[in-house]
Amino acid sequence: MKLFVHRKDLRIGDLAGFDYLHAAGEPSLHLLILDPFLLKRDRHLAHSGVNFLRHAVRLQAQYAELGRTLDIVYGDPAEVIDDILAGVSPACSEIVLHADFTPYALVRDRRIRDAAERRGVRVTALVDHTLADLPALQHYAGRAEPYKVYTPFYRKWSEFLGLYHRPASPLTLRDLSTVSLATVEGGPALLARWPLPWALAAPAYPAAEAPEDRLREFVAQHVPSYAERRDHYAYDGTSSLSPAINTGAISIRAVYEAVQGCELAGAWLRQLAWRDFYIYQSLYDADFFSYEKRYDLSALSDRHFDSWRQARTGIPVVDAAMTELNETGRMPNRLRMITAMFLTKNLQCPFTLGEQYFRYKLSDYDNTLNRGGWLWCASLGFDAAPYFRIMNPVTQSQTHDPAGLYIRRWLPALAGLSDKAIHLPLPQAIVDLKASRAAAIDCYRTILQ
Ligand SMILES: Cc1cc2nc3c(=O)[nH]c(=O)nc-3n(C[C@H](O)[C@H](O)[C@H](O)COP(=O)(O)OP(=O)(O)OC[C@H]3O[C@@H](n4cnc5c(N)ncnc54)[C@H](O)[C@@H]3O)c2cc1C
Repeated sequence: MKLFVHRKDLRIGDLAGFDYLHAAGEPSLHLLILDPFLLKRDRHLAHSGVNFLRHAVRLQAQYAELGRTLDIVYGDPAEVIDDILAGVSPACSEIVLHADFTPYALVRDRRIRDAAERRGVRVTALVDHTLADLPALQHYAGRAEPYKVYTPFYRKWSEFLGLYHRPASPLTLRDLSTVSLATVEGGPALLARWPLPWALAAPAYPAAEAPEDRLREFVAQHVPSYAERRDHYAYDGTSSLSPAINTGAISIRAVYEAVQGCELAGAWLRQLAWRDFYIYQSLYDADFFSYEKRYDLSALSDRHFDSWRQARTGIPVVDAAMTELNETGRMPNRLRMITAMFLTKNLQCPFTLGEQYFRYKLSDYDNTLNRGGWLWCASLGFDAAPYFRIMNPVTQSQTHDPAGLYIRRWLPALAGLSDKAIHLPLPQAIVDLKASRAAAIDCYRTILQ
């Protein structure tokens, strides 16, 4: 028997691990381990945790619809797996899972491998979450050095995918032979040892909506106007697929294939390439997860952090975006750039504080993409925003939402202002935009030299 462990791959079709299990031809036990470390500090109540748990509930229901069981337990993954290897019969001959390269995931998976090795069991980790096989792309490009600039990366990425795209697999859970803990020896006792705390029990979380429906609607209605509309954040011009992509509720290959043949899909594909580019950086830039240690950020401070997170900066577009984030877990990309740059530059706050805040608040939170976005705004890392090019939130608001519709929606107290006045700093604004911009340029010049 094999053990398949779901992580950020909460779906039942087109999984590298399922293809592998199918080829192996042995029955498999399918497990989702809710990790107390990842759910600490009441993460299950935060938008990011809720999104993951709602997709987990949907996944369990999809298993049940096919008459299969997804066992969900709560505990330290290495300890749970060790317990399974020790106490369940028939014995597990191999653990199959999908690779994850974030710092915590690497440590967690090292501990899983150690536990498995001690019991003589092999762990097979397959890469499933990127569009391009990134080490193969690097090899194809024939480069010793990684790409540090997005555009040449994108060109090579497109060329590589044109030749080597791995098509979405037609295999699904239906094609596998599965068993459940309830039906194997030692399984029921194991389930009792790793129960879900009541706060995580399924009824508390409604199943997430099917991302395939959203993808179909987006491709049919929005792809052609994406390039023009994506930054007009008052309208619903982007796919909103990120909460499903990051939990693996929809396969990135299926997303890519859905727009093949669409004439005007280029701008959207460029965004999917940005996703791969940040994952590429996490693999090829040794500092990606530790820039805060490489640079001295001690000149920065958390003085204005609370005003920023509580949407009390007095800059309407920033406060509107933070209100949307706090209330819904959503924030369009352009507004993430505006709010993150405002925090790191005008408010001179370390990017790590904003990054941590987004970790709890964003329903589509992803460790690598979030860090990539924050590094970009803080002028750190590959192809980041130059430190002297600081977005002015007022100009951004006037350009991308001239009628102030977004501000009116999220800050109803300002709804009566004219189209001209609605973008302007309020009298109680916590910084002067011009002076704080000049100060930030001086400060970051010193930090980055
Ligand atoms: C400070 C900051 C933090 C961010 N944190 C996250 C995060 O935690 N999780 C996350 O998924 N994205 C993050 N992003 C990137 C981006 O904002 C979101 O991916 C996007 O807003 C999701 O909306 P959508 O699904 O409608 O995207 P669409 O515009 O429809 O794009 C399709 C897909 O492409 C990818 N994508 C789009 N824009 C980017 C981008 N700029 N960088 C990398 N991939 C992109 C996403 O997978 C997205 O779902 C962050 C950006 C910034 C500036």
